Amino acid sequence: MTETCDTDSPHLIINVETTSAPVSDSAMTALIHQTLADRELSPATHLLDAGYVDAEIVVSSLLDHNIDVVGPVLADTSWQATAAEGFDISSFKIDWKVKQATCPQGQVTSDWAIRRDNFGNDCVDVRFDRATCADCFKRPQCTRSKAGPREIMMRPQAQHKLLQTRRQQQATDTWRAHYGKRAGIEGTLSQGIRAFGLRRCRYIGLPKTRFQHVVTALAMNVARIDDWLTGRSFAKTRRSAFAQMHFRLRSPCRRNSAAVSLLGAPRTDPRGRVSRTWLLPRVIDGEAHIRPWMKDTRLGKVVVVG
Ligand code: SF4
Repeated sequence: MTETCDTDSPHLIINVETTSAPVSDSAMTALIHQTLADRELSPATHLLDAGYVDAEIVVSSLLDHNIDVVGPVLADTSWQATAAEGFDISSFKIDWKVKQATCPQGQVTSDWAIRRDNFGNDCVDVRFDRATCADCFKRPQCTRSKAGPREIMMRPQAQHKLLQTRRQQQATDTWRAHYGKRAGIEGTLSQGIRAFGLRRCRYIGLPKTRFQHVVTALAMNVARIDDWLTGRSFAKTRRSAFAQMHFRLRSPCRRNSAAVSLLGAPRTDPRGRVSRTWLLPRVIDGEAHIRPWMKDTRLGKVVVVG
């Protein structure tokens, strides 16, 4: 479902797509944008779940429909990025015109090759000189290869630049606050399921199922327009019991001691891992209500291994 999220108008569902289960989210983004464009409903900004977003989609959405896709792009998961001192891809200067990369030690690449990865995406492989890397005293921060040189795999220029920029942006509070608006669509799905029977498929077959989804969205829009006209305000986003518990544990108040006391005694499993069981209270109107374990199935259970 795609809905509007302006603050000065009702949040209306403007597109519904129904697919069979194995279709990935990212395979639908281009279709959603094309459908919105056909109806002249293309948004300036589209807040999307991470599953719908990759660098190629962000670039093509901007070029094809002038839509700024906002959603978390994949973080750099290389060991160089996760180790605080490693030379990750952002440490290299790329000169796209002369097809050359320069490493933090000032060395330039010896190879530059364009190819397709296993998923059919264009990518660029660059490689530094073997002898130069072998003599480099920064080598432990750069590569774990025993004898080989440093190699880097990049996306094509537009996607590479966008990935680097987005990775920096999405680490900021400003970006998170902007993206936070997307939480509203979870409320829409919840409304559809709880109030309009969206969870249960009334028909067999994709076309009829899609019909049900479209009619449900239509009914939700009617209800929302009515709420808007009668001055009913938006519901606040709920915080899960666990999130509220986390807040309580961090805040200095008397109830914390009760919550903390629910931490079970540490246990050691056969592999030597230590675990504790947390019993989570139900939170009603901001108050933690703690019931005996196993007597109230609404209690949550989290096992922390460390
Ligand atoms: S190992 Fe090679 S690529 Fe890495 S910093 Fe040293 S010379 Fe540059």
